[in-house]
Amino acid sequence: MAPKKKLELDIRGMTCDRCPQHIERALKQVAGVETVEIPGWRSNKATLIVKSDIAERDLTASVEGAGYHATVKSSSAIDGEIEQSAQSSFTEDGGHDFDLLVIGAGSAGFAAAIKATDLGFRVGMIGYGAIGGTCVNVGCVPSKTLIRAAEAWHNAGHHPFKGVNTQQGNLDWDLVRTQKDDLVSQMRQSKYVNVLAAYPKITYIEGAAQFTKDGSVRVGERIYTADRYVIATGAHPRMIDFPGSEKAEALNSTTLMELEQLPKSLIVLGGRAVALELGQTMARLGVDVLILQRSTRLVPDHEPEIGRGIKDYLEQEGIGVITGVEVKRLSRDGDTRIVHARVLGQEREFKADQILMALGREANTKGMGLEHMDVKLEQNGAIVVDKYMQSSNPTIYATGDVTNNPEFVYVAAAGGSVAAQNALADTKKPLDLSTVPGVIFTDPQIATVGLTEAQAKNEGYRVKTSTVGLEHVARAQAARDTRGFIKLVADETTNRLLGAHILAAEGGEAIQTATLAIKYGIKVDDLADTLFPYLTQVEGLKLAAIAFEKDIAMLSCCAA
Ligand SMILES: Cc1cc2nc3c(=O)[nH]c(=O)nc-3n(C[C@H](O)[C@H](O)[C@H](O)COP(=O)(O)OP(=O)(O)OC[C@H]3O[C@@H](n4cnc5c(N)ncnc54)[C@H](O)[C@@H]3O)c2cc1C
Repeated sequence: MAPKKKLELDIRGMTCDRCPQHIERALKQVAGVETVEIPGWRSNKATLIVKSDIAERDLTASVEGAGYHATVKSSSAIDGEIEQSAQSSFTEDGGHDFDLLVIGAGSAGFAAAIKATDLGFRVGMIGYGAIGGTCVNVGCVPSKTLIRAAEAWHNAGHHPFKGVNTQQGNLDWDLVRTQKDDLVSQMRQSKYVNVLAAYPKITYIEGAAQFTKDGSVRVGERIYTADRYVIATGAHPRMIDFPGSEKAEALNSTTLMELEQLPKSLIVLGGRAVALELGQTMARLGVDVLILQRSTRLVPDHEPEIGRGIKDYLEQEGIGVITGVEVKRLSRDGDTRIVHARVLGQEREFKADQILMALGREANTKGMGLEHMDVKLEQNGAIVVDKYMQSSNPTIYATGDVTNNPEFVYVAAAGGSVAAQNALADTKKPLDLSTVPGVIFTDPQIATVGLTEAQAKNEGYRVKTSTVGLEHVARAQAARDTRGFIKLVADETTNRLLGAHILAAEGGEAIQTATLAIKYGIKVDDLADTLFPYLTQVEGLKLAAIAFEKDIAMLSCCAA
């Protein structure tokens, strides 16, 4: 009888009950295979009896050909003597603790863990701090509910700095804060705690994770091992250590929203999303706000018209905005905080009860032992990843705010899912960041997608643009709020839409139409020919598309 051996294969990519049959069929096509046993699609393994002289690479190639991935885990002569063990890092019971260990239990981590468990893998997720991470606890959710509260207060006639207080009454900050905290608790429970409970196969481990020198992960006294890792540890507010910072004790976005009492006055350092959203919110709640921005314009990554427009609207509400400010140091005199700065060549001092530092966020990579794992970092400390979310260490993937991907929760979550899939099933699925819409929740909102005019020119397009003021949009007229405009950027050669830039009340609701148009290569005349409901804000997109060719002041109702 020809000598035989028993092989154990590690199989990746099985997602349903039919997968074992496909793999079995593929393996049995290889000459020399006698039996194949796959306990189920979640098992990740196949046990084979084969002729001793079989070429193992023929087996793995056959599995690859069927759309899966296989490695030989162990091989033993049929009398039981172990010939080789291809993956020496496997523990005695034949494997690591997990197929995938996700570090960080925010939006990106949850998406990765759910994807991995849906694919049938053994998943661990390590969470540190409040479950759910930034968005639900200290980011999107609390900031957006405060913005709404401040807007309602403002729209009810409380315009503290214009001196047009049409209604009496004091703001109950305690109540607003409590309602914000209640919403955060409810959403944390429903979207994270309950969701985790619905996936009992995800092992949740609490504590701060750190890679050890031998490549395992330590959480407190426990050590965990996995075949693959997804790092999704997010970021924290960047606090610049200006001289005097220790005395000035500036706030960040988290501590500002937790204040027990609102300050009378607030200096905001920064001029991007968090600075503008929270600055306007505080102003609308009655705080005297001054925004100091280093760059020469607000939201410098956006169209210059947007920076100018939002500055005007903030100033009309009584918010001070100074650009071109170089902060030199901070100091404190009793309850007064002072920003010492240079503006247009002059030394200036700005005073307020509190300072908010809204100067961006820093990736949570320090102290994680990444130096033991050959994981490359960007200069700002973020993890370098390719489009598959793979780091410089092929077994480690990363996603969300811990990378330099755009800091939006939907980008973090989409990246989590892609990272888990690529890590486990070797699918090489890229995260498509070609069309990322973004909204800054000021009032009016800033909503953008695609290329700005300058970016499109830099990329070599023959660019044409069209801008329509909100006074042409019936919805804005009816709402008696015609602040803002819609600007479209298109390729003159192909007529394809390249970018849309909106400054308008609820502009965020209109941007998705432009996102679809750009993503699927829609031409501006197709946009102009599409029916848009009257009176909606998004109808402004159609008007802006028509305005490439026509004076829209000459149109009758309904952009026709
Ligand atoms: C004020 C504010 C408003 C925002 N508003 C919006 C918005 O309106 N829309 C939007 O799309 N985005 C918004 N964002 C951005 C959004 O919140 C983030 O992009 C998103 O939450 C990032 O998710 P993440 O999973 O990458 O990180 P996180 O949610 O931060 O999760 C990371 C988790 O990992 C944990 N962790 C860190 N180190 C370790 C460790 N060593 N071991 C284990 N766990 C660890 C952290 O404690 C955290 O729980 C806002 C952000 C802020 C600050």
